Amino acid sequence: MTPLKHGLLLDGTARVLVTGGAGFIGGALLRRLLVDTDVTVFNLDKLGYASDLTGIEQLPQAADRHQLLQVNLTDAEATAAAVRQADPDLVFHLAAESHVDRSIDGPAVFIDSNVIGTFQLLQAVRSHWQQLPAERQRRFRLHHISTDEVFGSLGPVGRFSETTPYDPRSPYSASKAASDHLVRAWHHTYGLPVVLTNCSNNFGPWQFPEKLIPVVILKALAGEPIPLYGDGANVRDWLHVDDHVSALLLAATRGRLGESYCVGGHGERSNRQVVEAICAVLDQHNPQAAPHARLITPVPDRPGHDRRYAIDPSRIEVELGWRPTHPFETALASTVAWYLEHQGWCQAVRTRAGFDGERMGAPGCQAVRTS
Ligand code: NAD
Repeated sequence: MTPLKHGLLLDGTARVLVTGGAGFIGGALLRRLLVDTDVTVFNLDKLGYASDLTGIEQLPQAADRHQLLQVNLTDAEATAAAVRQADPDLVFHLAAESHVDRSIDGPAVFIDSNVIGTFQLLQAVRSHWQQLPAERQRRFRLHHISTDEVFGSLGPVGRFSETTPYDPRSPYSASKAASDHLVRAWHHTYGLPVVLTNCSNNFGPWQFPEKLIPVVILKALAGEPIPLYGDGANVRDWLHVDDHVSALLLAATRGRLGESYCVGGHGERSNRQVVEAICAVLDQHNPQAAPHARLITPVPDRPGHDRRYAIDPSRIEVELGWRPTHPFETALASTVAWYLEHQGWCQAVRTRAGFDGERMGAPGCQAVRTS
């Protein structure tokens, strides 16, 4: 199947609402929408610690076709007003608290944003959809973006698919599972036209430097110990963010209503393999500091650390013709190069967020917080 051009996929769509568009994946989606299509994008985001608009605002298209709506989804009235203002034909819902380690230290904001926030968005979008004229109502869709972590942890064999029972095991994955259930319930009960995707671990440019790949790059560059959780044998199925964005555009516009699609890049790697691969790329960039792998330092494991995630993406490949086009090794090398060129950005966003690379979610350090 020849992939459809994104402009054609969105033919007839004029106004798109993206929640979480100031985050890593939402930003990549927004940039694609601005560059490859003519739609106007409304970016609903609370502008939390991980948010940044640099990659969007540097695009000339953003001046006319990107509008920020700074709203917290937990605020029902503000959310409803933002949806009315955006008046969307299509909604991509990415806004969520997204870091597992932070969910271990402080789960409350994950329940607020991911569960209550999704509920408020569904209510606002349902009201909007019900009032649309027939032709726009017929075309309207809400696409909910979720994670493979809702399926729990795999043993050494097998892969997650759309029929895998939910078994979330961290506060983050439990809150995402709850949001998936809400989205399906709004489809079955109210007929809201929804599509869901559950994707594996993403990497690429503009990711807030608290997640594994940017953390390892920055620690190695600073000559600091590179933390490796537990025995380093936990496996994730890595996908470049641009491949995820292509999957989102296909699923949102061509996916079957009420269905979910598992998205993964056949990119299973242990954490140790990923860390060593980053070190090898850095050795090429900076041979004087080689071998960077000497900095790898085992640290106590994350509590409840899921052992293995792996995705069977057959449904989205067969039904929608999606294929990942960024092989892990080359995409990792270009991501490392991007972070080398954007160390100033990393420092700026970390400083703004009050985060200096310290360990979060360590065993035995969890304060019981109510907010
Ligand atoms: P991110 O943390 O980089 O960005 C999330 C954005 O959502 C931030 O800008 C934040 O301000 C916003 N947000 C959070 N709570 C909000 C609220 N209550 N109201 C308004 N805005 C709010 O996250 P990401 O990595 O870009 O992930 C985006 C989505 O994709 C999430 O739903 C996540 O669960 C899902 N996902 C992520 C990955 C991954 O590897 N990063 C993999 C699969 C699925």
